[in-house]
Amino acid sequence: MPPDPNCLFCRLVADGDHVRSTDGFVAIRDINPAAETHLLVLPERHIDTLRDVAELPDEEAARMLRFIAEVAAAEGLEDYRVIVNIGPSAGQTVFHLHWHVLAGSALPGFH
Ligand code: 5GP
Ligand code: ZN
Repeated sequence: MPPDPNCLFCRLVADGDHVRSTDGFVAIRDINPAAETHLLVLPERHIDTLRDVAELPDEEAARMLRFIAEVAAAEGLEDYRVIVNIGPSAGQTVFHLHWHVLAGSALPGFH
């Protein structure tokens, strides 16, 4: 889908203030970190949710996963957690696909 002028993350992709980028994907720092390190990895092009992952060709989906690992390595992260919220009741508030990359001492357990 083309950039959506009403989409916050489409605007952040366009503003160029990225931790790291690769062909088609960017990483940014979460404005309200939920852990010591909290990055967001997102496709440059607008996809509403991971539920729509079929819109990504296989090669692009694979590159997205590889980029998450590259971003984590570049941040010096060994152990980290990757989360995607899909839909409002799962906590999704921004409807432009993004992967949370979380690490550090403040990371809560799933217990
Ligand atoms: P979601 O709740 O949709 O899974 O995640 C949205 C994330 O975007 C939240 O963790 C929130 O803190 C982050 N966020 C919201 N607005 C901004 C912003 O303007 N800039 C950045 N960098 N992150 C934002
Ligand atoms: Zn968007």
